[in-house]
Amino acid sequence: MDQGRFVYLDNAATTPLCQQALEAMAPYLGVGASGAFGNANSLHSAGRRAFGDLERYRMQVSRALKAGRPDEIVFTSGATEADNAALVGICVGIRAQRNQAGDHRQGRVVVSSIEHDAVLHSARMLRELGFAVDYVEPDRQGHVSPDLLAQVMTDATYLVSVMAANNEVGSVNNVAALARVAHSAGALFHTDAVQALGKIPVDLKAWGVDAASFSAHKVEGPKGVGVLYLKTGTPFVSYLAGGGQERGRRSGTQNVCGIAGCSAAVVHAVEDQQRFARASQAQRDLLYRRLTEIPRVSATVDVNSGEFLPNIVNVCVSGMESQTLILQLDLLGFCVSGGSACSSNSLDPSHVLTALGIERKRAQGSLRISLGPDTTDQDVEDFLAAFAQVVA
Ligand code: PLP
Repeated sequence: MDQGRFVYLDNAATTPLCQQALEAMAPYLGVGASGAFGNANSLHSAGRRAFGDLERYRMQVSRALKAGRPDEIVFTSGATEADNAALVGICVGIRAQRNQAGDHRQGRVVVSSIEHDAVLHSARMLRELGFAVDYVEPDRQGHVSPDLLAQVMTDATYLVSVMAANNEVGSVNNVAALARVAHSAGALFHTDAVQALGKIPVDLKAWGVDAASFSAHKVEGPKGVGVLYLKTGTPFVSYLAGGGQERGRRSGTQNVCGIAGCSAAVVHAVEDQQRFARASQAQRDLLYRRLTEIPRVSATVDVNSGEFLPNIVNVCVSGMESQTLILQLDLLGFCVSGGSACSSNSLDPSHVLTALGIERKRAQGSLRISLGPDTTDQDVEDFLAAFAQVVA
C-alpha cells in the first residue's frame, strides 16, 4: 500500500460530502448580497427566496422518500432529534388525545432492544414521563420478527419503534410487516431508517409507517441535518417551543443551507441506490468470505441468513480488542470502527451485540467495516492485506 494512503471504510458512522450536496449548499455560503442567507420566515424578498427554496427542498425529499405530501417532511438537526421527536412527540400527542376522550390508562411504547441510543434513550425518557416501555428482542441475526412483536402488543400500546436496518450488523427488518402488526393492535409505527436510505429501497407509503427518521450525513450530505417524516394526521406535540417553524412541529430558524445539502444528498442516494447496492454487495461478499477464512475471525452475523445491508460487514477477532484493531488499522491508513461509532470510547460491548447473545469476550473484539459509494475493489484488497498484517 502507498505510504500516507487514507482508506475510509466507516461509512455507517458518517460519509464525505458528495458533489451534489456541495453544489446545492454553495449559494447559501456566499457573503452579503451574493449569499442566499435570508431567514425563511421573513416577509421581504430575501426571506421569501429562502422560503421558496426551503419548500422546494421539502418537495424533493418528499418525492425521493415516497411520502404522501411535502408537508409530511419536517427538517431537524439530525436523526437523533428526529428519533427523540418521534417517540416523545407522538406518545405525548396520543396521550393528550386519549386523556381528552376520558381514557387515562398508562400508555405503552414498544422498541426493539437493538435500536440506536437515540431511540432507546428516548424510550427511557418516556418512562420518566409516565409511560411504560416494552422491548422486543431480535433473533440471533439481528432481525425483529413480526410474530414476536405481536406478542408484546397490548391495547394500551401507543407506538412501536423498530429500525429499518441496524447500524452495527446491518440486519434489515421487514418494516411493512412490522407496521401492520402495530396497526392491527391499534398502535402507530415509527422506523429509524437512517442506515437503510441509499442502501435498500425506501418507500414510505409502501412501508405504511406513521413516522420515520433520516440523517443527511449518512448519505453524503452535511452533518447536523435530518428529516422526520410525520404522516398526515399523526398526533404530535413538539417539545421544541419557539417560533412555530416547520408548521409548528419544530421551532427554530431553518438551516436552509444544510437542508439544501440534505435534499441533494437524499435525492442522489435514492437515484444511486441500485448501483451502489450491487457494487457494494459484491465487495461486502468478498470481504466477508476472505475475513471469515482467517482462523481468528468469525462472522458476528451470517449475512447469508436473511436480509442484510449490502455495505456492512461485522466480524469478531478472538484475542484482540476492537480498540487495538482500530488503532493499528488506522496507523496503516484504514478507518473502520468497532461496536458502534457513537459509543466507541467505551470498552463495554455494545448493547446490540449483547442483545444478539454474543459473549462479552467475543464482542469486545468486534469490528465493523462499512463500505461507501466511493469504495473501490482496490480499497477492499488493500484492507484485507492490512488486516492480515494486524491479526498475524
Ligand atoms: N440512528 C441510527 C441508526 C444511526 O446510525 C445514527 C447515527 O449513528 C443515528 C440514528 C443518529 O443520527 P445523527 O448523527 O444524525 O443524529
